[in-house]
Amino acid sequence: MVAYPYTYAGGNIEIVCGPMFSGKTEELIRRVRRAQIAKQKVQIFKPGIDNRYHETDVVSHSAMTVKAVPVSNSSEILDKLYDSTRIVAIDEIQFFDDEIISVIKKLARRGIRVIGAGLDQDYKGIPFGPIPTLLAIADRVDKISAICTVCGMSASKTFRKVCDDDNQVLVGETDFYEARCRLHHDEEENIETLPRETSLEQDNSLAAV
Ligand code: ADP
Ligand code: MG
Repeated sequence: MVAYPYTYAGGNIEIVCGPMFSGKTEELIRRVRRAQIAKQKVQIFKPGIDNRYHETDVVSHSAMTVKAVPVSNSSEILDKLYDSTRIVAIDEIQFFDDEIISVIKKLARRGIRVIGAGLDQDYKGIPFGPIPTLLAIADRVDKISAICTVCGMSASKTFRKVCDDDNQVLVGETDFYEARCRLHHDEEENIETLPRETSLEQDNSLAAV
């Protein structure tokens, strides 16, 4: 048996991803609350760009809320970290630059459990910022879905209701977006879709779970 030259210190990386309205923030808050019940020291961060609902709170679309520290760049997370912190939760991770990847790896190496939540794709269905790499290096990934606003099926995409091709992100207004299944996203984005073999009305096997 090989004797490993290090002791596992308990650090790990968990990423929760999916489209808007899929419950990423709710899930992040749920994990944070459980850690707080276990009396583990948690610090929650969010990018300063995301002040949709509140300057210093992480707020879900269903109004769940938890206090957070807004940061203007990823290295600020390390600057603001307390020695006693066991868990770091970061919401809206897609808004950070690529440096967030090394910051998260450093945190995990220090033995910290990192919980990150963010959009895996932008409104065009393109992988979002640092998320693809984070999904690859994570110890645990949960890809969750919303409900398609057109057909009620499982939604993995975010549809932008207003036309503004110059900006990847329209921050400040969740009214600009809605959750869509692949079909109802791609059809309206004019992304080529194949003819449907089964009608959605007949096939409920994939209905919102
Ligand atoms: P996310 O962080 O992924 O954008 P939130 O955790 O903020 O999502 O909000 C999830 C909540 O949004 C759901 O529990 C539900 O109350 C609400 N919601 C509104 N529209 C939808 C939708 N189309 N599909 C699923 N949930 C929705
Ligand atoms: Mg959210």
